[in-house]
Parts: sequence; structure tokens; C-alpha cells
Amino acid sequence: MKKIAIYGKGGIGKSTTVSNLSAALSNLGYKVMQVGCDPKADSTKTLMGGNFIPTVLNVLRDKGDDIDLEDIVFEGYNGVLCVEAGGPTPGIGCAGRGIITAFEKLEELEAFETYKPDIVIYDVLGDVVCGGFAMPIRNQYAKEVYIVTSGEMMSMYAASNISRAVMQFKSRGYAELKGLILNAKNVENEIELVNKLSEEIETDVFHYIPRNPIVQEAENIGQTVIESFIDSDMSKIYIDLAKKIMEVE
Ligand code: ADP
Ligand code: SF4
Ligand code: MG
Repeated sequence: MKKIAIYGKGGIGKSTTVSNLSAALSNLGYKVMQVGCDPKADSTKTLMGGNFIPTVLNVLRDKGDDIDLEDIVFEGYNGVLCVEAGGPTPGIGCAGRGIITAFEKLEELEAFETYKPDIVIYDVLGDVVCGGFAMPIRNQYAKEVYIVTSGEMMSMYAASNISRAVMQFKSRGYAELKGLILNAKNVENEIELVNKLSEEIETDVFHYIPRNPIVQEAENIGQTVIESFIDSDMSKIYIDLAKKIMEVE
């Protein structure tokens, strides 16, 4: 089972990229589990026909500790298994703690043994890389890390912070940064800026995703580009990303 984490600043396009990646992987015949680790809890929305699924934290709040896998794992597009960790009540509690609780619940309920996914993808908010949000790269939850960034200053700043967090754990043999995914915002000199960042943090630009309005078009009808526009150039780019990720050791 391959376990990867995709980090990046809020709004940079993590969930869009991850959902299209999951959809592309499912089309290639892989069993995929996507775990949203962002209090926004909308990671899997375009795999679920535009609907929010109950989050692990909300289900635990509503039903108590005695829950089943079916309460928190939902089958979306082409059999992709969808989970949302969820977030704390605003102003109270710790978002990172929520991620930890969700992971512990998935383990306790033997989610991986039950569904046997070929790949688990954690979609993680990377604005704050505190202990909680670093959870997916600790305790062997994710072995490979990718960071989504554009050439915008704030997203590159977040990417740099995330890379430092990964470094902390690399020496202990936990997780490894496999590269940047450049999700273009079409800022001036974007490719040069992100290339420079990749050199600074000693990684590569693993994949380039252009900006394309069909992403929004698909999202508006609650779907990934893979589901809505399979023959588009954009779908080819996500399929290419999926194939490349499966080749990484
Ligand atoms: P995040 O998960 O990082 O918070 P989202 O995946 O929700 O960000 O994306 C934020 C917005 O950007 C969404 O409305 C999405 O449709 C749009 N978006 C993401 N990637 C692209 C792209 N390559 N081209 C056009 N729009 C995009
Ligand atoms: Fe929790 Fe991190 Fe927020 Fe602190 S910064 S409350 S550890 S999520
Ligand atoms: Mg998101």
C-alpha cells in the first residue's frame, strides 16, 4: 500500500489536484482512499457529486465513540473511498488533534485491512505546520510528500515551511519530500520562481498543472475534470500525474 501526503497553502488547489488524481488512479484500476485533513472538510466533494460527507469528528461528536467504518468511509466516483477528518468547533479545540483522532479511529476500525487500498492519499492543509498538521508525515502515516504551490509569494512561503517540517522527520526515516506540484496561478515569471524555490529546498518541480477554467466548470456540477471531461488536455495532465506518482519508489 502506497501512502502519500499532499500539502499546500489553503486555496492553492490541493483538493482539486488530489481529487482528480484519485479519480485518475481509479480509472487506471487502482483502489484509492482519499483522506481530507483540512477543517474545511471539502476535500472529497467533487468525488461525491458535490456533496459534503460527514466528518470523522462530527460523527464521533454525534454518535459517541462506538461507530462503524460505514459511518466515516464513503464510496465516491468509480469506487474511490472518501474520508474527511473534519475540524474543531471554531474557537475551541485543536485542528491537528482532530486529524490525530481521525487517524486513530481509522486504524482502530481496521480501515486499511478492510478495504485494502492500493494507495492512500492525505490532502493536508499546510498553512500551519504544527505537530497536529505534521501528523500525516509522522508515525509512518505517509511515506511520500508532495507540496502544491503556485508562484504566489504566500503559497511558496507555505511550501518552504512544509519542506522544513518534512526535513525534521526525514532524518528519522519517516517521510520524504518527492517534489513540488506547480498548480499555476499565472503570476509573472511563475515557472522561474517555483524552479528557484525547488532549488532552495533541494527538491524538484515534479509536475506542472496549468490553470484551466474547465476545472471550475466541473466543480460547479460537483465533479472532477476526470469525470466531466475525460478527453480534455487537463484530464491527460492529471492522468500523467497519477502514472508518475505510481512510479515513484
Ligand atoms: P485547497 O484544497 O488547496 O484549499 P481547492 O482545491 O479547493 O484548494 O481549490 C481552490 C479553487 O481553485 C477551486 O475553486 C478550484 O476549482 C480552483 N482551482 C484549483 N486548481 C485549478 C486549476 N488548475 N485551474 C483552474 N482552477 C483551479
Ligand atoms: Fe492544534 Fe496546531 Fe492549531 Fe496548535 S496550531 S491548536 S497544535 S492545529
Ligand atoms: Mg482543500
